[in-house]
Amino acid sequence: MVDVKSQYDRIKSEVDAGIQEVIETAFFVKGPKVTEFQKDLERFLGVKHVIPVGNGTDALQISLMSLGLKRGDEVITPTFTFIATAEVVALLGLTPVVVDVDPDTFCMSLESVEKAITPKTKAIVPVHLFGQNAEMEGILELAAKHHLYLVEDACQSINSEYTFSDGRVCMSGCMGNMGCTSFFPSKNLGCYGDGGAIFTNDDNLAAEARCIANHGMVVRYHHDKIGVNSRLDSIQAAVLCVKLKYLNDYTKRRQAAADFYNKAFANCSWIKTPVCGSKSTHVFHQYTICLDESVDRDLLSKKLDEKGIPSMVYYPIPLHLQKAYLDERYKRGDFPVSEKLSQTVLSLPMHTELDNEQLAYITDNVCHLIEECRK
Ligand SMILES: *Cc1c(COP(=O)(O)O)cnc(C)c1O
Repeated sequence: MVDVKSQYDRIKSEVDAGIQEVIETAFFVKGPKVTEFQKDLERFLGVKHVIPVGNGTDALQISLMSLGLKRGDEVITPTFTFIATAEVVALLGLTPVVVDVDPDTFCMSLESVEKAITPKTKAIVPVHLFGQNAEMEGILELAAKHHLYLVEDACQSINSEYTFSDGRVCMSGCMGNMGCTSFFPSKNLGCYGDGGAIFTNDDNLAAEARCIANHGMVVRYHHDKIGVNSRLDSIQAAVLCVKLKYLNDYTKRRQAAADFYNKAFANCSWIKTPVCGSKSTHVFHQYTICLDESVDRDLLSKKLDEKGIPSMVYYPIPLHLQKAYLDERYKRGDFPVSEKLSQTVLSLPMHTELDNEQLAYITDNVCHLIEECRK
């Protein structure tokens, strides 16, 4: 699905030098490399504060902790997503309220959010799924109207841009009160281990998040609140300093691969190719197609695998049907779009190293094999 090794081969000398420098100086934790990366990313995104943390899940947890929410406060999040978003809500004793997604963009649907707001709602956590931004203009309006915090899960969408009706262009993760991203190796800006970051333009929330990520401590060994230990290490920061310089190029490569796929599948009536919303660019963390219900997805995936072509289902079970999250408030059938997507989506290989020969091999096989997989 990804090819991190070939990508490394093209930047090997720079990455190796950066890692070597960290080892020589022995600043493994909270060293100058982490500050350098933080500043580079602040400049790149045009955001006031980047707070590097241990991973994307921590970024979400620390962001929610920074808002000072109370037990039982409701947090709205989509049911069709990676588990981390709702997981941290539940872990903090907050109440996850799940909503359905838009059938075209796979991001939370504005109408479902509006319907889910109650007097207990305190925050909305949109997920910019697969690399395009949720309907942020409408979500921001709802948040303002109901005095809700907005924390963006931008773990899959770094470098995606959103254009507001007034022409203002914002980077993904920099529109709400806080934004979260992950530097997991397969993400669009991936390091060589775990890493993550919080983005915010709010000085108070930034101070709060920095304090919480560091054991609730501002002055050494004086603990003002209960915090956690979550930090990006210097070796990962060294890798990210190099890769950030190539992020625009990496994004273009993903978009070019998506273009190839779209053209190759244009005439296949069993495949719905990704739909880009009008206000957001798509950075294709995943290239995810929807198969016609007449196609046996498992069989297609198996036949592709036999040809050496990986494919994955992101995500096979929506949150409200996950064993750990079963809740009397929800039942099968409540979120029809998400439930249908979980039955019909299929993600194909997507990364920065796909060449036209590989893409042609994949698309030829998909178009050909899909005929044999009709139910
Ligand atoms: C990857 C991801 C996360 C979690 O990031 P980690 O760094 O793996 O903790 C959270 N939300 C979404 C949507 C993700 O894709």
